Amino acid sequence: MKTVDLRSDTVTQPTAAMRAAMAAAPVGDDVFGDDPSINSLQDKLAAMLGFEAALFVPTGTQSNLCGLMAHCQRGDEYIVGQMAHTYRWEGGGAAVLGSIQPQPLEHQADGTLALADIEAAIKPDDAHFAKTRLLTLENTFGGKLLPLDYVQAATDLAKSHGLSRHLDGARLFNAAVAQATQLAGNNVPNLPQSLTDQGQAAITYEAIVKEACRIAQCFDSVSVCLSKGLGAPIGSILCGSADFIARAHRIRKMVGGGMRQAGILAAAGSHALDHHVARLADDHGLARRLADGLQGLPGVVVEPPQTNIVFVDLVDGAKARGAGLIPHLKSHGVLATGLYRLRFVTHLDVDAAGIDHAVSVIRAYFEHH
Ligand SMILES: *Cc1c(COP(=O)(O)O)cnc(C)c1O
Repeated sequence: MKTVDLRSDTVTQPTAAMRAAMAAAPVGDDVFGDDPSINSLQDKLAAMLGFEAALFVPTGTQSNLCGLMAHCQRGDEYIVGQMAHTYRWEGGGAAVLGSIQPQPLEHQADGTLALADIEAAIKPDDAHFAKTRLLTLENTFGGKLLPLDYVQAATDLAKSHGLSRHLDGARLFNAAVAQATQLAGNNVPNLPQSLTDQGQAAITYEAIVKEACRIAQCFDSVSVCLSKGLGAPIGSILCGSADFIARAHRIRKMVGGGMRQAGILAAAGSHALDHHVARLADDHGLARRLADGLQGLPGVVVEPPQTNIVFVDLVDGAKARGAGLIPHLKSHGVLATGLYRLRFVTHLDVDAAGIDHAVSVIRAYFEHH
């Protein structure tokens, strides 16, 4: 049986159709702005999300860095979640490379930052303080959809204090699928319909793009990863106004992200946006299937997944017994991570049989250890 790799949605292999699109892509030197495949990818996502311009970058980390540095000057400050990628998981790049001070805030249980905490963190104009310049949110955050009314309220609050708003939307389309699903009354079948073709998913492409656009339009800039659930081998895109993207473009060059004939990579991204958006609903269905399959194990607490990430906490006796779980899973062809909590992520290279195998291996472990 092939390995069921649930470590992350970054582990996917490009599909045959994606590889064909890459092989056929027209390319040029993007530092001269000459790459037609990059230009069309940038135009495509900017149009989908309602922005003037966009910038293709190799990674989400670089996309967020270019975004933060395009919003903030040296000595400015951004308000950010304590566990947000742009604070915790990017090597401190905004501070190291941008001289931008983070102001981290604790998350609420639903992943939001309390409006009162945001407001209290905004510094008055006083020589003692860094200049609070930006609010950065992340959606999905830890696999959770931030409620749209919260996103609107938090970004309105930031705007009313003169702050810019940046979204780390690494998994924006997972958020949009969850939001579209909620609007449709959660009427989505539990079994994946298809693992390859968005045409067969329960929520339409148009409905998902509409929700992605509604989320994105609360922000001045949005970063989206192509290399997560969308299944491209590489790449993120930063969207914003033409002026903002011009500043980010200069910073991208400065940090070494000016690539040349990278249209072969952009073609993978365009293919992903055309063919892998609506199928994200399948990943969400598989995450629920995994969560359902793990019910009823003593000491194994499964957080009900809203998107494609399942977190599992071990309590009581299961906590000590859980120590050997990850190596045990690996020896049975199932990969997972447990840096802060046990985490299982679904994606286009996992199917229902793989999830059922993972469930039975996990259940067997706890029943015998
Ligand atoms: C993966 C991810 C990023 C960017 O990661 P890269 O590995 O640099 O592409 C940014 N934010 C979030 C929330 C992510 O999950």
